[in-house]
Amino acid sequence: MDLAENLAAVRRQIDQACDCAGRDPAEVQLLAVSKGHPANAIAELVRAGQLDFGESKVQEAKAKIPLCPSSARWEMIGHLQTNKARDAVHLFPVIQSVDSLRLAEELNKQADKAAKTIRILLEINVVGESSKFGYSPSAVLADLQSLNQLRRLEIHGLMTIAPWSQDPERARPVFRKLAELRKQCEDALGAPLPVLSMGMSGDLGPAIQEGSTQVRVGTSLFGRRTYAKFGQQPDVAGELE
Ligand SMILES: *Cc1c(COP(=O)(O)O)cnc(C)c1O
Repeated sequence: MDLAENLAAVRRQIDQACDCAGRDPAEVQLLAVSKGHPANAIAELVRAGQLDFGESKVQEAKAKIPLCPSSARWEMIGHLQTNKARDAVHLFPVIQSVDSLRLAEELNKQADKAAKTIRILLEINVVGESSKFGYSPSAVLADLQSLNQLRRLEIHGLMTIAPWSQDPERARPVFRKLAELRKQCEDALGAPLPVLSMGMSGDLGPAIQEGSTQVRVGTSLFGRRTYAKFGQQPDVAGELE
């Protein structure tokens, strides 16, 4: 599989969606979701000009990031347990999956110890799917002021994963609600939230039309995720056995 070609195809998809929406493609960042894919595939995309990557498991990222080109930039997009906060703060300058005040407080504490500032997104479970993590819209509004007081965390925006469907149009109302919630949060904070992270391989068109500033794309770039044959750990380097 030619990853540079996949990257060009995804960029064309983004350009087309921006065209439809009358938006500038420079407003939509592409985050390459590399979970389940080895360091050599990541290096291939870096050579093709893609520098922003998302990972969803701390353990996998910890093993893989040191094997990747140092120009790659990393964002945490998967559910985070408080006992992984310390590692997460060391690995990721951006954490998109903040879904409770308790987690945010722990990240703040660990960031303080590491003398770092972490950019965060608040993950929102827009339709209240029980299988997904994330704040409900009302819960995030209730926690917003407390979250904003954590000095080592900068709230940059909101993230959501739309319910899976064959039909990308089904995701559109979810994206629209997230964009509305962003406005409410901006009003409550009296400050802009520049990032709306929404849209994946299957639904990036409607997401961009509804105002996404970052799409998170795995499958369309890397192909289907394949984990190592034995055990649960992927072969992070991607070396042939
Ligand atoms: C896996 C994942 C993606 C990418 O999904 P694809 O359908 O492979 O593009 C995006 N966002 C999150 C949070 C993910 O876990």
